[in-house]
Amino acid sequence: MQENKIHKTICSYCGVGCGIDVSVDNKGTIAVTGDQDYPVNKGMLCSKGMNLNYVAQDTTDRILYPEMRYSRNHPMQRVSWDTAFKRAAGVFKSIIEKHGPNSVGFYVSGQCLTEEYYLVNKLTKGFIGTNNIDTNSRLCMSSAVVGYKKTVGEDSVPIAYADIELADCFLIAGANPAWCHPILFRRIEKHKEENPDIKIIVVDPRKTQTCASADLHLQILPGTDVILFNAIARCLIDKKKIDKKFIKQHTVNFEACKESAYQLSVRQAAEKCGIPAEDIRRAAKYIGDASGFISMWTMGLNQSIIGVDKNVSLFNLSLLTGQIGKPGSGPFSLTGQPNAMGGREVGGMASLLAAHKDLENPEHRKEVSNFWGGKEIQAAPGYTATEMFDALDKGDLKAIWVICTNPVVSMPNAKKIERALKNASFVVVQDISHNSETAAYADLLLPAAGWLEKEGTMTNSERRISYLPKVIDAPGEALPDAEILWKFAQAMDYGGFDYESASEVYDEHCLLTKGTKIDISGLSYDRLKEEGSFQWPVPHRTHPGTPRLFEDKTFYTGDKKAHFNAPKNIYNKSEETNTEFPLILNTGRVRDQWHTRTKTGKVNRLLTHIPQPYLEMNKVDAYLRQLKEGDIAVVKSRRGEVQVKVKINYDIRESVVFLPMHWGKILNNDFGRANNLTSELVDPISKEPDFKYCAVQVAKF
Ligand code: SF4
Repeated sequence: MQENKIHKTICSYCGVGCGIDVSVDNKGTIAVTGDQDYPVNKGMLCSKGMNLNYVAQDTTDRILYPEMRYSRNHPMQRVSWDTAFKRAAGVFKSIIEKHGPNSVGFYVSGQCLTEEYYLVNKLTKGFIGTNNIDTNSRLCMSSAVVGYKKTVGEDSVPIAYADIELADCFLIAGANPAWCHPILFRRIEKHKEENPDIKIIVVDPRKTQTCASADLHLQILPGTDVILFNAIARCLIDKKKIDKKFIKQHTVNFEACKESAYQLSVRQAAEKCGIPAEDIRRAAKYIGDASGFISMWTMGLNQSIIGVDKNVSLFNLSLLTGQIGKPGSGPFSLTGQPNAMGGREVGGMASLLAAHKDLENPEHRKEVSNFWGGKEIQAAPGYTATEMFDALDKGDLKAIWVICTNPVVSMPNAKKIERALKNASFVVVQDISHNSETAAYADLLLPAAGWLEKEGTMTNSERRISYLPKVIDAPGEALPDAEILWKFAQAMDYGGFDYESASEVYDEHCLLTKGTKIDISGLSYDRLKEEGSFQWPVPHRTHPGTPRLFEDKTFYTGDKKAHFNAPKNIYNKSEETNTEFPLILNTGRVRDQWHTRTKTGKVNRLLTHIPQPYLEMNKVDAYLRQLKEGDIAVVKSRRGEVQVKVKINYDIRESVVFLPMHWGKILNNDFGRANNLTSELVDPISKEPDFKYCAVQVAKF
């Protein structure tokens, strides 16, 4: 398998989805460079992508063979795959027989390949007979999914990266793409360098690296995004900078949007947001004067108890200005993970159905269950991510199968997640690395193949589907996740899982999309290998793909119009600060680390940027607590506490502190473990956790 030729693949980190050339020399040494021909990155890679060879090469942390224990008091022991599948199927069958199908669940990842996502969704919804399949994408994208559905009728990003170079105004809200989507941001920077008149507005309580390129930084108080977007909407309406023809012909509910926007004067809104009213008017002028306006956002909007309201109020700005379905315009949700979008295409969440069909629609459920030839699909959504661990904690969920994600570090209120996993009757962890803290809770540990070790597809933030080839053999007895899933289904005696390759799974998925808005029946592995990547829909074999949606102004809603939505809450509903917990904790990423560091944490070069967790706080807040740069502080919330070094500046607002989300347990203490502190509140519709806002106190250690 190992040969010194160029293999074209895709980066396994963020949703930008950069193309990578991989070569393996005759000693097995892996080299990576940016793919010059790939339209997304044109040869560029960020620090994480360009160090992927170390991650792929280093197998010291890898899980090499199945391990199992019959009781929690016993150590894990190596077993054969045959024993592992028999044990998994035996326990699942017995729990399902005794407690029903809703007593088991699967918790998966936006890093899974589309084929893996497809299979686990089919297995769970179509054969076990429960909708208890959710994903860590719930933690990052679900508010945007609801926002798109409410506005354009489906979870469909209307825009392509190529629109960046055609836009002249960007509103980047609750995101730091300079660090978290670096190659995408490099395209914006280059566009600005070549066209200094284009405007970049950044909305963030912190002055991040992204602000270095901004014409206007709106450093709002956490949680006031809806008030800000409504105030901008009001300014646009007041100054007659709206597209009346577009609104009249192609939208509904304008009056509801206007009524919401006029609840507060611009001055009142500015006071609530903690910024000058003049800055709001300036933002509205930039947007209103633009010929191409793009909004971009990530977790600052999505990870909120009012995440859906934040999304719809931002979408309203694109509809007011008619900036959707035309070059250089549109609301553009930036995907955090490499295949969060592919997962949604196959319905890999508790509230979704495959191929963007509607779980609530009985006809759709019937179509999918007939296609699969399994059980009737339940109408009620399954447990979402946080609900799944709540149910485990209460004993309502007995068994959980965790694939390619590390909830012990990444979920809010981490101590409760640990307790829930301890309470579970049976925990299966399917992963590549012993570095995953969740692996310690497994009754059955299954070794999965990693990046370059299996084939499949992924979809990036702009609906671009790419093929990832197998380049090297997996170490030990590790198997591709898709193969593990279909072999487990066979051990459960389910029909319809007699696959021999990932390509067969992909063909089945493509066929199921036929006639839908995400129709990719024109794709196959052969076509992706020969012709490169495609943006969906791709409805027939000669179709070139679809870079931009809604160019005909026909939307996917029942009435084919885009819908304005009045946000239900303009005020934040997060937990309240008080004298005991007076500061607001914001969590997020740093440039060179990824998720819970199971991969980036083992690359020395990536540790030189920020080697340890830190608490960023304003100089005034630090002074009041007699904290100096580098001091160890204790951060306490209503759920737990951590110790961490402080980093002091004026870049973060007073009364707000920031802690990176990557670090779990270091040397068996909880130094800087952000999710000891975070709140379990979720948006009532999207069920996305409120990671960006919890009340804390900080004191000198
Ligand atoms: Fe990988 Fe994202 Fe960096 Fe591109 S920007 S190289 S996809 S981490």
